[in-house]
Amino acid sequence: MLTLLHNAFLCTGLSDGFYPDGAVLIRDGKIVWAGSRSEMPAHMEIATSRDMGGRVIIPGLVNTHAHGGLSTHRGCCDEGDLFEWAAALAPHTSHLTTDDNRRGSYLAIMDMVRNGITTACDCTRYGAGVFASVASEIGMRSLSGALANSPELRPNGRPNWPLALEETSAAIELHRGNRLARFYLGGHSPYSCTSDLLRDVKREADRLDLPFVIHLAENRRENEIVMAKYGQSPTAWLDRLGVLDARSILAHCVWVNEPDMDILAKSGAGVAHNPTSNAKLASGIAPIPALRERGIPVGLGTDSTLSNNCLDLFQEMKLSVLLQRAVSLDGKIMGAREAFTMATSEGARVLNWDSEIGTLEIGKEADLVILNLDHPLGLTPERVLSDVVYHAGPQHVHGVMVAGSMIFENGRLTKVDEPAVRHSIQQHYKHHKH
Ligand SMILES: [Zn+2]
Ligand SMILES: [Zn+2]
Repeated sequence: MLTLLHNAFLCTGLSDGFYPDGAVLIRDGKIVWAGSRSEMPAHMEIATSRDMGGRVIIPGLVNTHAHGGLSTHRGCCDEGDLFEWAAALAPHTSHLTTDDNRRGSYLAIMDMVRNGITTACDCTRYGAGVFASVASEIGMRSLSGALANSPELRPNGRPNWPLALEETSAAIELHRGNRLARFYLGGHSPYSCTSDLLRDVKREADRLDLPFVIHLAENRRENEIVMAKYGQSPTAWLDRLGVLDARSILAHCVWVNEPDMDILAKSGAGVAHNPTSNAKLASGIAPIPALRERGIPVGLGTDSTLSNNCLDLFQEMKLSVLLQRAVSLDGKIMGAREAFTMATSEGARVLNWDSEIGTLEIGKEADLVILNLDHPLGLTPERVLSDVVYHAGPQHVHGVMVAGSMIFENGRLTKVDEPAVRHSIQQHYKHHKH
């Protein structure tokens, strides 16, 4: 059963992968061919043929850092730097139940899909399997899990290790054979986890062959805390603990100096860059050009609706470029191509998933976004890249496909009754005050 998407301006995500008469051929959720319609092999038994009406097809956007389960509390604390914000949030979020987590996950995933996100790396504290279950139901791809922390360093809330390991193992079992769901093990941060805990989590991640996720060097005070305690930067400290390698996914990395960046480059770890969240929480601006110059893969992340408050990678693409230019006074330090790459193929690399997603190539999963970009002068590769990064937003998203399945089309999510879900969540919180 072959599905053909044709009459599209196809952007495969490869540097020269632009086809004004583009077509994508899909079988069993995978791409069997992508390129110019005129060069498509003849004699293909096409079951379904879909005219894209001249719209643009790009690879699905990859969100490398999110906390979907907190989406119920959007905007509940908009002031303060990271530590002030975290303290203000704790009374709201440390008592959240698995059902709260599920409701938040629905809200987050519905938003993400509407915004053209096809894969998200999500972090929670309790209920490591919740996000994946909701994402799979809605049809979005996820790499998810829980970030462990040490009760003596993060006293609010219940301890979550080895609970996170048990929950994750159960989720892996439950989702065996589900190609949309992958899992990781992680620790919250170098300042909220003891060395023993971080070593334990990383050892279990290696044993189960899972990626390892952690927040790293997000705020200047984090560096001061870790330096005072261990006499090293957070990055050097994690390196010494042996938790940094090519399977490590590091959120933020704002406060990394040259030796830190050399450590990261040597380790092979990837960075999840969250420009809006880092600015909103007064954390700073991560040195993205310097990280990427060293070959460190950098993806883009939205973080949560409490620190952003949108789950929109179009905004993150644009801001990632603008912030670097604004502080460097160098108008060429980063451009649309770099931002687009981070939001797609490089993000997939950060998540250790680039053999299957991130670009539209033969053999990869059919994860793609169909955009209405009616450029007044007509579409060219340069105009498409420029529009995607500097002009476009969720309002331009016409369709979203994951693993060959159209999960959003003509303004509607296809696998979930979104208005009913939103209504039932509002009804719930009418009766359960937060
Ligand atoms: Zn609450
Ligand atoms: Zn985070």
